[in-house]
Amino acid sequence: MNTRQQKINIITLGCAKNTVDSEALYSQLLHNDFTLTEQIDDADIAIINTCGFIDAAKRQSVDTILAAVERKSSGQLSKVYVMGCLVERYKNDLQKEIPEIDNFFGSNELPNILESLGGKYKYELLGERSVSTPNYFSYIKISEGCDNPCSFCAIPLMRGKHRTKPVEQVMDETMRLVEKGVKELIVIGQDTTYYGLDIYGERKLASLLTSLASVKELEWIRLMYAFPAKFPADILDVFKSNPKLCRYLDMPIQHAADNVLKSMRRGITRRTTENLIETIRTAVPQIALRTTLIVGYPNETEADIQELAQFIRDVKFDRLGVFTYSQEDDTTAFGLGDPVPEEEKERRKEYIMEIQREISLEKNESRIGMKTRAVIERSENGSFVGRTEWDAPEVDNEVFIPATEHVRVDDFVNVTITDATEYDLYAEITSKE
Ligand code: SF4
Repeated sequence: MNTRQQKINIITLGCAKNTVDSEALYSQLLHNDFTLTEQIDDADIAIINTCGFIDAAKRQSVDTILAAVERKSSGQLSKVYVMGCLVERYKNDLQKEIPEIDNFFGSNELPNILESLGGKYKYELLGERSVSTPNYFSYIKISEGCDNPCSFCAIPLMRGKHRTKPVEQVMDETMRLVEKGVKELIVIGQDTTYYGLDIYGERKLASLLTSLASVKELEWIRLMYAFPAKFPADILDVFKSNPKLCRYLDMPIQHAADNVLKSMRRGITRRTTENLIETIRTAVPQIALRTTLIVGYPNETEADIQELAQFIRDVKFDRLGVFTYSQEDDTTAFGLGDPVPEEEKERRKEYIMEIQREISLEKNESRIGMKTRAVIERSENGSFVGRTEWDAPEVDNEVFIPATEHVRVDDFVNVTITDATEYDLYAEITSKE
């Protein structure tokens, strides 16, 4: 059977950056007249877009590959292709350990995938994606790779040096997404604040955000993954002057104890982080700050955890996620070993999350009575469920709103917050526009 008669299933693992790559691949395959299916049961060819970020993600990727290979052995699949970050890091091992895999592709090898299937990569489709997220929101990747030296992180090993996507290309991709009905654009990259430095010789995120905010059809622009060291303050002016910029910022700080930050090579101290947070909150009142932390780093002591806990109590992030340290091959921190036992890492994670639960409730309750915008995402038991501008999809809070006539799923509405719990908000609609 030629590959065009066979059905292809793309399985996407890992982060939103992989989602974007899979969406571009999906579009290329469709424009090459391939048949795609959402169901592995229905597929002849599986393409697995893998993640190689930390141990748990690698395990999930390998398990997914093994399940597909089993299908191939029992004749349900004819081919298994593996692409993405795991290939970038472990292609040789995978080749040796799982010889049933038919082909391997790095994250930037879409043309080779097309060619291997008997198709042709269409360069005129650059920026074209078959969006897999709900109609109203989409991720936009403004860069690839990362130049930061964080000791624990394998991403630069997989995704390479930072490569800015030129402004024209980002805008072109945005217009294509807008034509498909996207109203919330979620700006991602490994470090979005670095945008522009490599190709324009200066940080250009503020001017990119201003251009994006000028797109009439967009309701919201949400900024993710802003690296705190050398944070470009001019972004805050864009927040102040453009209501389309969601009052939301995802800024991963990873830790607060100076000796851990230094060993992590984050290029920032606790004091500088505190000052930055104060500057952001003063410039953009009501902003919801999200961060992520790593606990169980090799040289993290009990005193460091106590310092981190106190920092969390003092700074009070609106949204917070905690990861346990994962020792990654070839990273700078690899040589420090992995002396903190897994149970102890889990204990530290739970300890910080317990503190955050109270803060989260306090922060949510402080929003009762506030007016904001929300998007209606679904209807459930006579209520609408959505998100306010303070919450990103998949990781943050939902808002519950009594259903009203003349409002539909996908609508953006003005709401007043009426109640709150640790991880949910309640609101009523004040107007549709
Ligand atoms: S900023 Fe640090 S943690 Fe983030 S991708 Fe770059 S090296 Fe990794």
